[in-house]
Amino acid sequence: MAAEFADLGDLPKDVLDGIQSLGWTRPTAVQEQVIGRLLASKDLIVQAQTGSGKTGAFGIPVVTLVDPALHAPQALVLVPTRELASQVCNELAQLGKNRGVRALPIYGGVAYGPQTEGLSRGDQIVVGTPGRVQDHLDSGKLKLDQTRIVILDEADEMLSQGFWPDIQKIQRSLPAKRQACLFSATMAERVRSLARAFLREPEMISLSEEDLSPQLIEHQFIQCRQNDKVATLAKLFLLDRPESAIIFCNTKADVHFVATRLKQLGFNASEISGDLSQAAREKALHQLRAGKLQFLVATDVAARGIDISGLPMVVSYATPDSPEVYVHRTGRTGRAGNKGVAVSLVSGLDIGNFRYMQNVNGIKVSERKLPKDLPADLPPFPSIAATEESEEWLDAEGDAADAAATRTSPQKSKRRPRKRGAQHASSAEHPKPAGHAQSESRRPRRRRASRSEPSRPLL
Ligand code: AMP
Repeated sequence: MAAEFADLGDLPKDVLDGIQSLGWTRPTAVQEQVIGRLLASKDLIVQAQTGSGKTGAFGIPVVTLVDPALHAPQALVLVPTRELASQVCNELAQLGKNRGVRALPIYGGVAYGPQTEGLSRGDQIVVGTPGRVQDHLDSGKLKLDQTRIVILDEADEMLSQGFWPDIQKIQRSLPAKRQACLFSATMAERVRSLARAFLREPEMISLSEEDLSPQLIEHQFIQCRQNDKVATLAKLFLLDRPESAIIFCNTKADVHFVATRLKQLGFNASEISGDLSQAAREKALHQLRAGKLQFLVATDVAARGIDISGLPMVVSYATPDSPEVYVHRTGRTGRAGNKGVAVSLVSGLDIGNFRYMQNVNGIKVSERKLPKDLPADLPPFPSIAATEESEEWLDAEGDAADAAATRTSPQKSKRRPRKRGAQHASSAEHPKPAGHAQSESRRPRRRRASRSEPSRPLL
């Protein structure tokens, strides 16, 4: 790491003050490599993943290079998701605030009004998703004739999401004389093609493994049957007690299923997928950041670009479709010098795929075996509060819920005497029958154990 930000180039005092206001004292490796080169007007391809400090790496030069007195978009940052647009925009706004530089988020799923206002005001930096940026170009509200620097952030993700045609159209609206910089966690051939089309004689910056800091992420996998995944997840949380975690699923149906089961087990969990409104997704992320939500179950698309500082654990509920997605999922933890654990639940069918992914990414993933029974003296799980829902399910369904609720909060125990043995682990996977609530009201409630009853092995 360089000693100081001031060593990296001619950074004005107001930008250095902005950096300080973010609490950053030293540049990260990617910032050290990129800031000076961008200030020197070079085109760059940078292989860096989320969590490396890449937003600052381009953000610091961008706020320095734009002219605060010129009210027109002078820098364009394209990102794959709304969440990332909002995050990047906040960071740029903070970096540029003392300099009078404004950043405007432009993404779909929200009203056009504030975006159009920002464009008429002449905010100097536009941060947007390609689709909505293209809409504003089409309507003539966004003009890029004064744009002198373009950043393609998470280029591999933008391509995975089919933004290539929009990016091409945007490219045609840009002045020929401009600087460009592409960031990508992975460098698949299609990312290189995008770079060839967009950048001129770019310099390639690929940070070493250590610099990308994956060593701060401990990669683990747990083999279990498909039907045991929720119970395994519950056991993992009870053993490791992460302050928070994101659980990635491949499908919206799985997201809903896993979130529902975790809630029924009494965990403080919620879900985000493309089905939710933008406002609802932002609310869930806000709660996670604020420590009000502990477990967020998400699809890759809904969670892309999420920056939750200090997220200690990421779980892959199912093996992702590509090695790149694995890198993106696990990059949500171990950020900015913090340690993180990335755990993959791998069923028999998935193991071949999973090993392939490990080889492609060159990441060492170690197998972890959870104990059959949890230690009898586990302390209560602080987040678990007895909810109506968990109580109902506890009464109606299997021993896994019973066991988890018992183990997690023995002093608030709703435990009943265990009648069966080990089959409860998979019962967590059995869908609740339709009309559950109704049938529940007709069912006599089972006996609740007294608070003094000793805890016993579960799951
Ligand atoms: P990014 O890779 O840009 O998503 O950044 C990941 C996290 O690192 C964000 O929470 C940033 O605020 C934080 N960060 C970026 N640069 C620094 C730095 N130089 N020192 C400390 N934290 C940083």
